[in-house]
Amino acid sequence: MEKPKKPVRSASGVTPLTVVLKPRKCNHGTCIYCPGGDFVPQSYTDKSPAIMRALDLKFDPYEQVQARLKVLKKMGHPTDKIEIIVLGGTFLQYDLDYQYDFIKSCFDSLNGKKSNNLEEAKKINETAENRCVALCIENRPDNCSDEEIKRMLEFGCTRVEIGVQLPDDEIYKKINRGHTVQDVVDATKRLKNAGFKVGYHFMPGLPYSNPEKDLKLFRMLFDKEDFRPDQLKIYPCQIVEDSPLAKMYEKIGYKSYSTEQMKKLLSEMFPIIPNYCRIMRIMREIPKEKMLTEPMKLDLRNIIEENLKKQGVEIKEIRLREIGFNKENSLNEDLKLKTTKYKASNGTEYFLEVVNEKDVLFGLLRLRIFDGKAIIRELHVYGQNLNLGEKGEISQHRGFGKWLMQEAEKIVSSEGIKFLKVISGVGVREYYKKLGYELDEDRIYVVKKLD
Ligand code: SF4
Repeated sequence: MEKPKKPVRSASGVTPLTVVLKPRKCNHGTCIYCPGGDFVPQSYTDKSPAIMRALDLKFDPYEQVQARLKVLKKMGHPTDKIEIIVLGGTFLQYDLDYQYDFIKSCFDSLNGKKSNNLEEAKKINETAENRCVALCIENRPDNCSDEEIKRMLEFGCTRVEIGVQLPDDEIYKKINRGHTVQDVVDATKRLKNAGFKVGYHFMPGLPYSNPEKDLKLFRMLFDKEDFRPDQLKIYPCQIVEDSPLAKMYEKIGYKSYSTEQMKKLLSEMFPIIPNYCRIMRIMREIPKEKMLTEPMKLDLRNIIEENLKKQGVEIKEIRLREIGFNKENSLNEDLKLKTTKYKASNGTEYFLEVVNEKDVLFGLLRLRIFDGKAIIRELHVYGQNLNLGEKGEISQHRGFGKWLMQEAEKIVSSEGIKFLKVISGVGVREYYKKLGYELDEDRIYVVKKLD
């Protein structure tokens, strides 16, 4: 059998498309490390490429999606499976009309035509050429109330990233985060119960911390069942021009970590990460001219991974095990289904993986059982990003999704639960219909009654 080709852009099979919000200040003020500009979204600088593109288009979401689609197509990237990433300030704090218009415009743009309302736009997208298979919103832990979660579901959101930084109330106060650790715990639970995939932003090297404290707090994220995120972005704190920190760092005697310090800390953090968590990104791309201190190396991740591999340290996190990053592995190896069961936020998580004997990952599913209910929070089959319907020798088209779903249904039935819900990107509803799932009456989840 032919080996999978080198992944073009998205080794996880979905093409990300970032849409930037118009500038707006956060309600609580400004976290001290945040650049907080007036003309660009608060947590970004006007020199970031995505922000510069959005500025040119006056932050119009319809135009931003059109422009990106055009570029992606020109570069030969498939656009049939898109993940919309809403980026900028705290979206859930914007004016309600703006929120609804923004999301509707993203769908309209993917559909290539304007609709009358969000529901209609989503319906058209179910069978559109450019389908929205996932939608991610960056958010704050204190903007995850039941009502806000309902709204995110209505938007077709499937993944929420929350800024957790360093989960410590003293540090939160000193860096003006404006929320508590309890907010993180509550948000995590509510988001997981609603079926979202939950990503945390973690920020080592903040003022009033040190590498030992960072490591202790990082360990806590996985030791305590209150946290246990599905994904992580690790953004070391740096002093960025115009941030409150830029004005006070000398006074408080603050220094950001050196590349060497960060390397050491990351090498200690990596082996802690369990197999159910994916490291999405390390380091934030902040233009050099915007930094007040020596910028850290951007390719830290590769350096750490290579070093740990050489030392024979086992890394369990998802990304490094994905087939897209393990090109030397062919598909005709013996594959098995592995189940990891763990407690999280007062529920039980079943993390199912299709792996080969080297633990290379071909697909995964997250099933959550809580309060006598069952919900699938993620189904992901890895491989090259092929167009829908295109035949290929890769995992996305080899029935791994069905295999994982059947296994999840078995687990749910054995728990005596009659209904299985799935949070589905709008553009994936058709797939679930083929597996016997139907859109529920609120038009949010797809559901199946199990025998
Ligand atoms: S919540 Fe995010 S965008 Fe708002 S001030 Fe803090 S870092 Fe900046």
